[in-house]
Amino acid sequence: MEKSFLIPISRRDLLKLAGVTAVGTVLGSNKNSAAAAPAPPQKFNFNEAQLPTLLRADVCVVGGGPAGTAAAVTAARNGASVVLVEQGVVLGGLQTQGLVYPAMPTRVFNSDTPYITDLNKRFAMHGIDVDFVKEEPKYKNGGDARQYTPELLAFIYDELCADYKVDVLYNATLVGANTAGGKISSVVIHTVEGLSKIEANIFIDATGDAVLSRFAGVKVERGSEHTGRNQKMSFRFEMGGVEEMKVYKFFVKKLKDGWCESKPPEFEFAKTTYTEKFYYEGIQRGEVTKDDVAYIQAFTIVGKPGTLSMNCPEVSPYIFSATSAVDRSKAIQQGRIMIRRLANFFKKNIPGFKKAYISREASMLGVRESWRIHGKYYMTADDYSNARKFPDAVCRSAYPIDIHDENLSLSHMLKDGEFYEIPYRALVTNELSNLLVVGRCISANFSAQASVRIQPTCMSMGEAAGIAAAYGLKNNFPVNAIDWSALPADMRSYVSAG
Ligand SMILES: Cc1cc2nc3c(=O)[nH]c(=O)nc-3n(C[C@H](O)[C@H](O)[C@H](O)COP(=O)(O)OP(=O)(O)OC[C@H]3O[C@@H](n4cnc5c(N)ncnc54)[C@H](O)[C@@H]3O)c2cc1C
Repeated sequence: MEKSFLIPISRRDLLKLAGVTAVGTVLGSNKNSAAAAPAPPQKFNFNEAQLPTLLRADVCVVGGGPAGTAAAVTAARNGASVVLVEQGVVLGGLQTQGLVYPAMPTRVFNSDTPYITDLNKRFAMHGIDVDFVKEEPKYKNGGDARQYTPELLAFIYDELCADYKVDVLYNATLVGANTAGGKISSVVIHTVEGLSKIEANIFIDATGDAVLSRFAGVKVERGSEHTGRNQKMSFRFEMGGVEEMKVYKFFVKKLKDGWCESKPPEFEFAKTTYTEKFYYEGIQRGEVTKDDVAYIQAFTIVGKPGTLSMNCPEVSPYIFSATSAVDRSKAIQQGRIMIRRLANFFKKNIPGFKKAYISREASMLGVRESWRIHGKYYMTADDYSNARKFPDAVCRSAYPIDIHDENLSLSHMLKDGEFYEIPYRALVTNELSNLLVVGRCISANFSAQASVRIQPTCMSMGEAAGIAAAYGLKNNFPVNAIDWSALPADMRSYVSAG
């Protein structure tokens, strides 16, 4: 589950930990069984010479999610000309199109890298305080959850790109990559003008699904090394017209027992098992199904009073694979049916939802994990468990291994104050000298990815890639051979604590 944002180890986590000893053993054995489901090669051949060149830049970033936007803005800020290719009409990826809210806590002090600090300042300039924790924050300089209003985030991302002169190309879908001599020479995109290519010196794959890496022939894997399954996907939505205080009182005063662990003005309600009496009775009455209520979590949204962000429904990995185009479409259709049932259930049974309505559905399926590259360094659960540090670290985190699956769950949580780091080498490949990979598809096994995937960590990885891209350009040096630890400390967005 995306963990409760206020309590370091929530009651639900503890229950989960207590109930999953066998599962923990499974995850703990990762180092001996790193063979995740292999993925077939997906390199397509295009006749590069016949394709018109739509744009040319120093750096081309594909995918405008939290990782890609951070990479593009940072590379531009460091002097590179940048094109950012995005298939949607908004930057933010899952943050905006997927309605994923809020940014989860890294649970470690000093995890904010400069890009995140700047982003938070921009929110403050627009009158929004991103910090959830209003009292004394537990972690200084990051670590606690952050609330980025989705619509304002989209606006700020456009503003950032305009300020640093990033060329954003919306409604542009990557469909192929051309390679020569161990480098990507151009990427092929589909736009309203048809097929064309973008030429650049350095490319950054921020598609979340390792699309560019796969098309360029990089080794990838997908799903769990134990089950072959991907993490469960969700199709998220928002409900407007909610009387928040009535909702809060219902859960706190009537249902009690850990439904709300945070306090207004910003709070969440969550119970993640259908056996809870409140849900169970709904199933008995035929209002919802067991699957509909298997995972429910809802957050108030800063700057959007009367609206709740629903981290549900979860669509099952047994039926739907995150690496099948057909399954993804079916999952969206199934998710939409589930959303209707859930909305009606809430309206009927929760005071404060009486006049509520579905105000927004995600325009992007909530894929937690799909394909991951196998790069120069391959992160595993051991890196997490041993709180491993790296000289070439680009950021730190202590966010738990958070796997949404019925049989695999939280194996281990770092003690308060402990953290691991992500090495630069997990962002580069052996195969291609001018490719960087950032976000949820970096080089990590299934379990490690389940921790590194949260938004602040994705942003920090993107930021580091942007710096490295600009550095590689200036020094005419292949990005997959850069020694991040040798860069001057004031140039790095993060310096290892190791
Ligand atoms: C249901 C769910 C709940 C989550 N809850 C939280 C949470 O509460 N807090 C938190 O911090 N994290 C949460 N996460 C994790 C987090 O949101 C993601 O891991 C993170 O957004 C990944 O960032 P990214 O930039 O790597 O990829 P994405 O956010 O997936 O962005 C990828 C971008 O690439 C674009 N793209 C993809 N393919 C192409 C192509 N071929 N051509 C052009 N563009 C393309 C997409 O349109 C998208 O904009 C959750 C994830 C899910 C799915």
